Amino acid sequence: MNIANWLNDAGQRWPGRPALFEGPRQVADYGAFAALARDRAVQLVNEHGIAPGDRVALFMKNGCQYLELLYAIWWAGAVAVPINFKLHPAEAGWIVDNAQARLIFTDGGRMFSPEALPHGCRELDGEERVACVPADSQRLATPSPRHSDDLAWLFYTSGTTGRSKGVMLSHGNLTAMSLCYPLDVDPVSPDDAVVYAAPMSHGAGLYNFIHVRCGARHVVPQSRGFKADELFGLASVLGNISLFAAPTMVKRMVEQARHQGYGGEGIKTIVYGGAPMYLADLQDAVETFGPRLVQIYGQGESPMTISALSREWIADRDHPDWATRVACVGRAQSCVEIRILDPGHAPLPPGQPGEIAVRGATVMRGYWRNDAATDQALVDGWLLTGDIGFLDHAGYLTLTDRSKDVIITGGSNVYPREVEEVLAQHPDVFEVCVVGEPDAQWGESVVAFVVPRDAEVLDASLLNAWFIERMASFKKPKKYVFRTELPKNSYGKILKTDLRQWLKEVASVTAVP
Ligand code: AMP
Repeated sequence: MNIANWLNDAGQRWPGRPALFEGPRQVADYGAFAALARDRAVQLVNEHGIAPGDRVALFMKNGCQYLELLYAIWWAGAVAVPINFKLHPAEAGWIVDNAQARLIFTDGGRMFSPEALPHGCRELDGEERVACVPADSQRLATPSPRHSDDLAWLFYTSGTTGRSKGVMLSHGNLTAMSLCYPLDVDPVSPDDAVVYAAPMSHGAGLYNFIHVRCGARHVVPQSRGFKADELFGLASVLGNISLFAAPTMVKRMVEQARHQGYGGEGIKTIVYGGAPMYLADLQDAVETFGPRLVQIYGQGESPMTISALSREWIADRDHPDWATRVACVGRAQSCVEIRILDPGHAPLPPGQPGEIAVRGATVMRGYWRNDAATDQALVDGWLLTGDIGFLDHAGYLTLTDRSKDVIITGGSNVYPREVEEVLAQHPDVFEVCVVGEPDAQWGESVVAFVVPRDAEVLDASLLNAWFIERMASFKKPKKYVFRTELPKNSYGKILKTDLRQWLKEVASVTAVP
């Protein structure tokens, strides 16, 4: 099934229902949204010769046109290649080349000189309005037929651990992922409004499908990005808003909400995930926003759908086991199974940490034209996530760390996440990130990068004293590096690779004996 059938269906069933919003202003109802997608699809086919299976790239900021183009691409049977607009054009050019895209849509249509694009790829202005297709044209009256295994979205990984890879997501993957959402994360109603505050080329963009299926509203903030105060304004005007937010975004929302005395009115759901949410930050978020948070754990290779932690558990601050409950990432979502594997890929019993593996309808078909990487990631039908975690007897999954981030010091494993949790609870710590540094004596040593709330009051000896009261001393950071901010990618994830690189290059850090 072509995922664009959902838009065609919504356009026929509810033509007058509000669909697309720029800020608080409605710009299209479902009838117009479906017609725009179809008209653009006809243009792709008639004027640019796009055929089913061709790749079409989007290198644009968030916008309603983004959604129209995505659906036009699928309507024509082609494959969308959304590229993070914060990448350098040279990086985007690499992706276009790797995907062998025939077209690239950009804001304004003048980002690349023709020689900067691979042969056969043309740049078009994604914001340009298309002329309506003549009413008698029956061409593409309905979306081009597609099988559920056909490719729909070529999703380029952020490449923080090497060259970016194209994750192949099929129409079937996207359908399964979307159907899990109301079952496992949050029911959707036509009164809902999904707000795209994080880049639509990544996780946030994936929320569109179920909201199209349910005939809900789609809102792109006027800033075309994330601004906490703007979000709160949209929530009060539009009501019932839902959004995906990385933990760093939730943290900024909490700061802003406290600053302006806002308590989450008009927000229905904040789905957080994509990186660890520290206990101290979650506590603040629940105190500020109440029962509005749901956690998901996923990765591009099984998008948004490995596990989910329910709103009820997160909100139940009075439960004696609250801290343990919310330290996990919840239970397997409806269309996947989870296993924990040892290094030989044999399943491990509950309680034992190992690599998290996933199998099910949302798991990618493989990496685009990269059989070696596909064979490493997909073993006997299981996706090896590269994340370390354990399942408890009741099926709740706890994520300890990325396997490559685990620090081995003096032969013992230290999971950076647990060290970060302890330091993040210190009242004067705003943000923290822990990495390993090569060490002649210990193999690796633990280094904590800390952003203090107030640089005047915090020092390494205070943090050290805080730490040894709470955790085994072999896990204690050997160094604290104080920073005013931490490097993050455009999805708000802290770039541990940059911090490790910095450690290699700079020796003059504050060392604690
Ligand atoms: P990406 O493919 O860029 O979305 O990154 C996926 C990775 O982000 C996962 O493999 C995890 O390491 C991390 N991640 C995703 N969700 C969570 C979560 N809820 N808690 C902690 N880490 C997460």
